[in-house]
Amino acid sequence: MNGKYLLRCPGCGRSFPDRYTLDCPSGCDVLLRTVYAERRLTPRSLPGVFRYKDWLPVEGHLKVDAGPVSYESVGLARELGLSNLTVTFSGYWPERGGGMETCSFKELEAQPTALRLREKGAGVIQVSSAGNTGRAFCQVSGLTGTPVVVVVPTAAAGRLWTTVPAENVCLITVDGDYSDSIAFGREVCSLPGIVPEGGAKNVARRDGMGTVMLDGALAAGRLPDYYFQAVGSGTGGIAAWEAAERLAADGRFGSRLPELHLSQNLPFVPMVRAWEAGRRTIVAEDMPDAEASIARVYADVLTNRHPPWGIRGGVRDALLASGGRMYAVANEGARSAGRLFAETEEIDLDPAAAVAVASLARAVEEGFIDQKKQVLLNVTGGGYQRAAEDLDRYPVEPFLRVAAGSTLDGDLRDDIGAWLAEQEVAAYA
Ligand SMILES: *Cc1c(COP(=O)(O)O)cnc(C)c1O
Ligand SMILES: [Zn+2]
Repeated sequence: MNGKYLLRCPGCGRSFPDRYTLDCPSGCDVLLRTVYAERRLTPRSLPGVFRYKDWLPVEGHLKVDAGPVSYESVGLARELGLSNLTVTFSGYWPERGGGMETCSFKELEAQPTALRLREKGAGVIQVSSAGNTGRAFCQVSGLTGTPVVVVVPTAAAGRLWTTVPAENVCLITVDGDYSDSIAFGREVCSLPGIVPEGGAKNVARRDGMGTVMLDGALAAGRLPDYYFQAVGSGTGGIAAWEAAERLAADGRFGSRLPELHLSQNLPFVPMVRAWEAGRRTIVAEDMPDAEASIARVYADVLTNRHPPWGIRGGVRDALLASGGRMYAVANEGARSAGRLFAETEEIDLDPAAAVAVASLARAVEEGFIDQKKQVLLNVTGGGYQRAAEDLDRYPVEPFLRVAAGSTLDGDLRDDIGAWLAEQEVAAYA
């Protein structure tokens, strides 16, 4: 292989260089994968997630010290009767070195994605998000000056804040729901120079999230037997599986892939239902009363209606390959698991992370796991209370507000075009 990595299509088997490519050039309906020249994992003395740069689709690194942190749990492990529980925490927790100031593992995705795009000269990134992803990209923008277009439902705009001023964000709010934001985001990407983030298809997103598995395995000295995470799109689960395969090929961490134990929050649990029914596609009956169900969950970052479930290399394949399991967690169970975690480990959790803790407690109760084996708990977010005490908070001000179903007509096109031109001028100044 010439160079650091190639992209490979698991459909037709072709390999090709990365041009911020999201899809197979031959049109296969798959998730592309990165193949790195480096077969062994060597942690670098670089900040945060860039410690794992060898297995990230970037050439350089950002000077951002925000990566996953892993430790051997004492309090929660004792409470649950687990002999080997590694917690990998993504969020703000200065005592443990947790420097993700927007408090979720979406920063693991945002950093390599922003850098990959810059290195490939592909343009300005557009992200549609109802919360954590948008905030993570705004933060990376604030820290590095990378321009980003973020489209969110108007009602969710309050979730977009940063801990440093972010002056290169074009925030567009849409009077509608998350799906309306996605639709308008697609409109915005019709402007030359703006490219979609790509969701699960974005290899930088998956390899960034995969650093949780790398960090946890390095801390424990081996691959875990079980991996626990709460999922909405399931991208983190796919990423964990891919990273585990890489570690297995490295040879020093064991060869058995961890079982994926993935959880969703009742009453909106489409992947759990599709899994239990043995379905390759998610159908309407997996999401009865979708809107009302979404409104009732505690962890609303887990409410994705179009997860990469049945696609080749997607969540279902990851579960099948690893002999995994899915859990449906009720709000009350998640809340009490969050309280248990705060009492035993002394940090507050994102509701989604509390769902994962609840699933772990259930797995123990029901005897789904061997309590002596190695568990990796992906704590995908937390430390909001600490962050609110310690850090400055800058709300991201909307640049435009549009109605649901808007198209990119003359005025909107001109406004966003003008913003884009300003970014380009700033970049060359
Ligand atoms: C996005 C998110 C998840 C779910 O991640 P996916 O792997 O993309 O499904 C879980 N927890 C938190 C805190 C998140 O922000
Ligand atoms: Zn292909």
